[in-house]
Amino acid sequence: MSLKNLDNINPNHPRYESLKLRYVMVEAYKAGILADSGLIAHGRGEAFDYLLGERTTPMAKKAMEAAAAYLVLAQNPVISVNGNTAALVPEEIVSLAAVMGAKLEINLFYRTPGRVKAIYKVLKDAGADEVLGLEENPEKIPGLESPRSRASREGVYSSDVVLVPLEDGDRAEALILQDKKVLTVDLNPLSRTSKTATVTIVDNLVRAIPCLEKEVIRLQKEDKIQLKRIIDNFHNEQNLKETLDMLVRNYMKP
Ligand code: ATP
Repeated sequence: MSLKNLDNINPNHPRYESLKLRYVMVEAYKAGILADSGLIAHGRGEAFDYLLGERTTPMAKKAMEAAAAYLVLAQNPVISVNGNTAALVPEEIVSLAAVMGAKLEINLFYRTPGRVKAIYKVLKDAGADEVLGLEENPEKIPGLESPRSRASREGVYSSDVVLVPLEDGDRAEALILQDKKVLTVDLNPLSRTSKTATVTIVDNLVRAIPCLEKEVIRLQKEDKIQLKRIIDNFHNEQNLKETLDMLVRNYMKP
């Protein structure tokens, strides 16, 4: 992604990181990777990130540990990739998939052949061996309108654990109804996805995915009993509540 517009911004600018991400998103939009609504979704995320202090909270770290435990124990882990994920963390998501032998599958709300092709190229350029989600006749996840219902037979359809960053509530619910463990990264602790998922990491994708990879590598050395203990000790609702409490406290600060 070209960051040439950033030359005009002083790296000491207090909002430099945020401005950098905006440029990345605008470039991704121009390159056809991101739908216009993806830019709006990013804006909603930014607002929550601002309130969270633009850093990874202790609650997010706890959620990452639980998510990593699910991923390490999974039989067929799959990462569902949309435009925002491909734009913000292409190398990181490919690296995470490689570390745990997970599959990558493109799934888009606003699906066009051009966007699928653009995201496929981004993932391949980032080093992905295989990218699912391009099949002519995919399976369907019941309860969803096409094209969100699309699911690759070897991928999401037969997965036991799915990492779905920036998902919409309908798809998260439909995947849970198929008895899948749904792990998400969503800056909005109030979204339907956050409330529905098995594990919600309330953090910015750009911080969360590299941290999650480190957690997966760490937990790959643990035995199954310890991994199950981590899962049993994690309560998504409670974690979201603690995150919201922190967000409100930050908001109330003078
Ligand atoms: P839901 O249907 O779950 O209630 P929604 O309608 O609020 O979702 P969508 O537009 O489907 O939201 O998805 C965007 C979500 O992704 C928002 O909750 C937003 O906070 C979050 N988000 C945007 N950018 C990022 C990011 N970089 N990292 C993590 N989350 C993000």
